[in-house]
Amino acid sequence: MVIVMRKGSSNETVETIIKEIEALGFTAHVSEGETRTLIGAIGPAPTPEIREHLRAFNDVESVVAITKPFKLASREFKHDPSRISIGGVDTGDGHFVVAAGPCGVETREQTVEAAKIAKKHGARVLRGGAFKPRTSPYSFQGLGQQGLDILAEARELTDMPVVTEVTAPELVEVVGTTADMLQIGARNTQNFALLEEVGRIGKPVLFKRGMSTTLNEFLQAAEYILSQGNPNVILCERGIRTFETATRFTLDVSAVPVLKELSHLPVWVDPSHAAGRRSLVASLALAATAAGADGLIIEVHPHPEEAKSDAAQQLTEGEFGALMTQLQAVVEAMGKTL
Ligand code: PEP
Ligand code: MN
Repeated sequence: MVIVMRKGSSNETVETIIKEIEALGFTAHVSEGETRTLIGAIGPAPTPEIREHLRAFNDVESVVAITKPFKLASREFKHDPSRISIGGVDTGDGHFVVAAGPCGVETREQTVEAAKIAKKHGARVLRGGAFKPRTSPYSFQGLGQQGLDILAEARELTDMPVVTEVTAPELVEVVGTTADMLQIGARNTQNFALLEEVGRIGKPVLFKRGMSTTLNEFLQAAEYILSQGNPNVILCERGIRTFETATRFTLDVSAVPVLKELSHLPVWVDPSHAAGRRSLVASLALAATAAGADGLIIEVHPHPEEAKSDAAQQLTEGEFGALMTQLQAVVEAMGKTL
């Protein structure tokens, strides 16, 4: 349930309510709205008596039951869209962000060059995998710590915050030391131990939808991160498995408006992994933006033909530049800023 405090209620009264709900066996999650403080009480199903008891406090305006299986992610908990800062770059609530960079960090030169291309054409966040979750154990697995060091250097040179994937709970601390935002990949959407671990560090999380995860399951998985106390979750659609084989995955464009209807969290789209080949990436990126996405994560490589992973889908500088020009118009038409 959500306890909506009256306008202007003091920190002290909020504390009193928190103590009260904790004594009743709930965990409290506070969300400061523009005018009101909301307290999410997560725990057992609240009885009518409990709700009545809480309503009786002077500074409590209302007590609302959350009917969805996901609580902290829901619009019932927080009606207004959330805005999240990625190392100083805001996304959500009208702020549109493009993250770009290579699939994997391969060399210092490749990463720095990709970062410069990304920045030159208007990306605000640098992507690049140091720990790569590969289908085959014989494929390039990423440079690990050395990859993180290269990303830190590229950030230094371009002044762009970095998003990079974390693939295991024991790596959260080390990846979190370098990353401005931690990425959870599609193969780990329901790796609950990993989700709880990223929930315990305050850094934003780019949370990808699994290729076979329903939106309801996806939002319940996001709840694992949120319920550990990390409110900075960005949901990311990246294509799902269908019977279609003409694309690598099928980009579920409807996921964008559905997620935005159900949740206050920012929604991003990854057109690169859905498309699987570069000729389709721009169309999917524009469609996702027109559908209401708050950001995009796009693979860009200085020499895609030499890439050690996802060579077919990474954009060249020319392709990325052309997309960013088209994107500007769509972002503006959506009433957002790039
Ligand atoms: C990636 O972004 O490099 C990646 C592996 O994506 P996904 O988890 O969506 O497949
Ligand atoms: Mn990739």
